[in-house]
Amino acid sequence: MIPETVLKKISDIVGAKHLKTAEENLAEYGTDASKLEFMPEAVAFPASSEEISRILSLATETGLPVIPRGAGSGMSGGALPVKGGLVIAMNRFDRIFAIDQDNLIAKVEPGVITAHLQEAVEKVGLFYPPDPASIKISTIGGNVAECAGGLRAVKYGVTRDYVLGLKVVLPTGEIINTGVETMKGVAGYDLTRLIIGSEGTLAVITSITLRLIPLPAAKRTMIAFFPDVSSAVQTVSDIIRNRIVPTILEFLDSLCIDCVREDMDLAVPEGAGAMLLIEVDGDEGLVERDAKTIGEVCSRGGAVRFEAASGSESANRLWEARRNVSPALFKLRPHKINEDVVVPRSKMAELVAFLDELARRYGLPIPAFGHAGDGNIHVNIMLDRGDPGQLNDAQTVVKELFKKVIEMGGTITGEHGIGVTKAPYLEMEISRAGLDLMSRIKQAFDPKGILNPGKIFSQTI
Ligand SMILES: Cc1cc2nc3c(=O)[nH]c(=O)nc-3n(C[C@H](O)[C@H](O)[C@H](O)COP(=O)(O)OP(=O)(O)OC[C@H]3O[C@@H](n4cnc5c(N)ncnc54)[C@H](O)[C@@H]3O)c2cc1C
Repeated sequence: MIPETVLKKISDIVGAKHLKTAEENLAEYGTDASKLEFMPEAVAFPASSEEISRILSLATETGLPVIPRGAGSGMSGGALPVKGGLVIAMNRFDRIFAIDQDNLIAKVEPGVITAHLQEAVEKVGLFYPPDPASIKISTIGGNVAECAGGLRAVKYGVTRDYVLGLKVVLPTGEIINTGVETMKGVAGYDLTRLIIGSEGTLAVITSITLRLIPLPAAKRTMIAFFPDVSSAVQTVSDIIRNRIVPTILEFLDSLCIDCVREDMDLAVPEGAGAMLLIEVDGDEGLVERDAKTIGEVCSRGGAVRFEAASGSESANRLWEARRNVSPALFKLRPHKINEDVVVPRSKMAELVAFLDELARRYGLPIPAFGHAGDGNIHVNIMLDRGDPGQLNDAQTVVKELFKKVIEMGGTITGEHGIGVTKAPYLEMEISRAGLDLMSRIKQAFDPKGILNPGKIFSQTI
């Protein structure tokens, strides 16, 4: 329980109407897209770095756990108060300060919704490429804290590739600026990169300077159906071997196709066992040429159908369907364990064959979809958590999956982070010496361990 005296101080900092303590108002902050549940004791809605600084100083003084939260779309439980304490919701940090067309940078607060920033920069012919499938709900702060990827990462990279600098509040209350507001800068250690992807465990981000690029003039969306997964993923490699790096190269297996086919309003050909969604962008001539070559590569790769989307409405419908895959999978079973492993692109077919084997061995549906261009596959172990046998089998599947992925030279998470769900498995990938160094870094930032405790390091759960 947070002592009344501490709550009173927090209320004085943010104002009584920006502090929630009544149980019925806390429930939505006790869960996220991981569907785990941990209730906070209070939720504060600060509006400035100074307010956060005062809250964190108080927390360091009193040992109060503080958990930063964006939109709660995180898949690994990063925003959940697993040790109780105070959630600081970043909703009021929702301003776009500047879109600087001379220097191609944007300065934003972390609570800005990703899609809103994209729309704002596109209005002036600029482009902020990172586009997690959750763009309509996720915040830029949550994207930076998780180093979110997304559909366009194959060509444009991930969130970290666009962050030039940050303003952050340290757990001890100091406010610092990291990085630069220029195109280059190497002064001192790269604290910006350290904080990106640190999942709200090192500092609270209160302002972000982002790099922008010119908006490509044209784009083309294509869809290709293949008889099986191996011909689809072989075609992914063949497209890239032809020196084309599409903006997007997404893959869905047959179980995923079945779950979204109604939303897609598109006849799925007989015998389709896998699907690729492909987008290229650039100037009109290049887009024409790349689309033509991709059509030829898909035909040679055994595509049973290849089509270019006719107009932006039909392209939007395809992307909408892709964004809905994750929730649509609940048609298969009421719960899922969702992993986002990455393997070298050339080994994707081997990984998907391994998933089929696991699905058969344990009798659980394991649909897979994801960012084929990056080798980043979202593996969904569907189950009914109420059945202890299924839960036990699903957890065994996770361990076997991670073991295989690491043997293949991959990683257990490409973009969703470790959070709470993957904390017990981190030591499968990171050596003891590496983990010790990470925990010393955590200690240097957060000597009292008050910021988002119970995340990343399993021993602190
Ligand atoms: C349908 C769906 C599709 C998705 N697709 C993708 C995808 O394609 N690619 C991808 O990468 N992710 C994807 N995600 C996961 C999720 O959207 C991202 O991880 C996103 O970056 C989380 O942003 P958020 O604002 O919801 O953060 P939250 O879930 O609220 O928080 C995530 C983490 O960030 C920390 N945090 C939030 N704000 C701050 C801050 N200001 N300072 C410090 N720490 C902070 C939290 O403490 C927590 O650890 C998807 C999720 C859903 C539900």
